Amino acid sequence: MRPDALNPLFAEVTVLPGVGAALARTLARLDLLRVRDLLFHFPTGWRYTRAVASLADAREGERVSVPVRIVAMEPRRGRAPARLIADDASGIGLTLAFFGPQADRMAARWPVGSDLSVSGRLELFSGRFQMTHPEAGGAVETEPVYSLTQGLTSRKLASLIASAQERVPQLAEWIEPSLLQRRGWASFADALAQVHGDADSALARDRLAYDELLAGQLAWAAVRARRRRQRGRPLQGDGRLVEALLKSLPWPLTGSQRQVLAEIAGDMAQPAAMLRLLQGDVGSGKTLVALLALLAAVEAGAQGALLAPTDLLARQHLATLERLLGGLPVRVGFLSGREKGRARDKIRAELAAGDIDILVGTHAIFQQGVDYRDLGLAVIDEQHRFGVSQRLMLAEKSARPPHLLVMTATPIPRTLALANYGEMDVSRLTERPPGRQPVDTRVIALSRVDEVVDGIARHIASGAQVYWVCPLLEAGADDPEADPDAPTPAIVRAEMLRRRFGEAVALVHGKLAGPARDAEMERFQRGDAKLLVATTVIEVGVDVPNASLMVIESAERFGLAQLHQLRGRVGRGTARSTCILLRAEELTESAAKRLRMMRASEDGFAIAEADLELRGAGELLGTRQSGDQGWRIATDDQAARLLATADADARMLIDSADGLDSERGQAARLLLYLFEKDAAVATLRGG
Ligand code: ADP
Ligand code: MG
Repeated sequence: MRPDALNPLFAEVTVLPGVGAALARTLARLDLLRVRDLLFHFPTGWRYTRAVASLADAREGERVSVPVRIVAMEPRRGRAPARLIADDASGIGLTLAFFGPQADRMAARWPVGSDLSVSGRLELFSGRFQMTHPEAGGAVETEPVYSLTQGLTSRKLASLIASAQERVPQLAEWIEPSLLQRRGWASFADALAQVHGDADSALARDRLAYDELLAGQLAWAAVRARRRRQRGRPLQGDGRLVEALLKSLPWPLTGSQRQVLAEIAGDMAQPAAMLRLLQGDVGSGKTLVALLALLAAVEAGAQGALLAPTDLLARQHLATLERLLGGLPVRVGFLSGREKGRARDKIRAELAAGDIDILVGTHAIFQQGVDYRDLGLAVIDEQHRFGVSQRLMLAEKSARPPHLLVMTATPIPRTLALANYGEMDVSRLTERPPGRQPVDTRVIALSRVDEVVDGIARHIASGAQVYWVCPLLEAGADDPEADPDAPTPAIVRAEMLRRRFGEAVALVHGKLAGPARDAEMERFQRGDAKLLVATTVIEVGVDVPNASLMVIESAERFGLAQLHQLRGRVGRGTARSTCILLRAEELTESAAKRLRMMRASEDGFAIAEADLELRGAGELLGTRQSGDQGWRIATDDQAARLLATADADARMLIDSADGLDSERGQAARLLLYLFEKDAAVATLRGG
């Protein structure tokens, strides 16, 4: 139940004077349903009106207020506006123009001979200054400008927001007092007033952004605390399997792998269930880390599960595990959507009996009816297919939750990791296994595509394989004639390449049904197909070490993070690899920056930070968009500056002895409701 103190903020906009059903419908088009929504609808800019003594000081295009005398009136004729002719102190003079059915009535408000100040934007019309629909009034004005919809003006919205301000209650402060003081932040109510009332309100905006970030991190911290309070299963292996595996490897673990494994072992030994995100660039050796963690669980007498997002990736993991495990006494099972009937029943029975130590598979491994004898550790690969709601579900599923290790190859910047995985502890693999070949990245104009195709022929002749990635499947709605730079669809490109390479070309895309797609992928994986044309469906985890050349067509259309993911498909074998970014002739500045960054760096974390910076500029990159985090107030820039503090404070508050029952905790509850994180409060109650 929402605390009563917040009722005025959650009242519908119709409680405000002058807001009837019609205006409420107009406001609803902007998602302004409640008083709070109006208050959170921040100005997008400010409008200045400069007071001048005469038009001698004024310029075209400027908003001014100027004293004038009305000297003549011309009523409206046909389509022409009604006009008032006015004189000013300089003698330059000014026309006041009024359009529409009310034009004459509006003009008649100021009879000939009257002296007044008018304000508006100065236009030049037939060599003479003109103001359209001027307002009376002389004071210098700074007014907020809001994003609008038809039937609404900024002034109208400003007056509604002003009456909304009157309903803001004084709420107990949820921000830590010393932080508030250090930052010089005003109270919630005062900050709102400043944002709408003062063009120079950066501090107030920061405070309110912090409120939103804090609410989000409190919600994550609540989920995390709930999980920690559930009795988990401390697992401490005796090292026999881990040692044996390490001894069989031809190389030592990297320092990064060792450190991460220590963090994981530390978590698993605790009675509280582990909740850890392992971030590591493609090829940083996450799979081995996962396997070693799984072995530790098996040593301790528990079972492990390894979940991959697709059948193909799950099979790849199975093959890797079996290869690495060699002769070790570990029983590995496999389950995906494809196992049906008897085969599936057999796996289920073995799992329930404890005859399977590690189960690898797709989401099927966590489906109903799949019961483990004693699941101790679940590893989930490729997090971004395993969304927030699925994570929360898994966290709530069992009374005695398994340790959870989530692995992602997306090197998310720290701030976004906190926002998206705030319930988890984060480990990073920052070091690459030695001996991995760097990828030689080149940017080539699309006009030289024939040379690139010749290069592919030579490449294939030498026995290697090639990826060719296109941004689109089919021609879009836009007429391809209209846009000379429109990307070539994957299907069309595959057709072109087939004319030269015939059956050696495979094609996969998102619209191909699962089994057909897997069959094409397998053809490529076996080496029967030499050239794989694909949309971004191959982004995740595909591993064909013999593929050492990748062409990304219309590379300027992809986001940095996506380009990096795609490039990670090559450079996995012993051969030196190349990535060719085929670009349009004309590039926007930020597209050019992205391609330069790709050429210059292979460091996923650096690329991710650059991606965030470029996205901060508000540009659409690839299919992802700024605002992914769903913040309504905070910007990426504010998140970069404030999120870490919000996260640390949220964890401290939730983990403190009396949690949300302390005085500040009570205030924090208000904050959670204010930003509609009600589910988090419920989580705390339920725990
Ligand atoms: P990721 O899953 O992070 O993309 P993988 O686990 O697939 O990376 O590892 C990439 C390759 O590096 C694999 O062939 C793996 O056997 C190898 N590898 C892993 N750890 C090391 C290491 N410490 N030294 C050398 N090679 C390693
Ligand atoms: Mg992997």
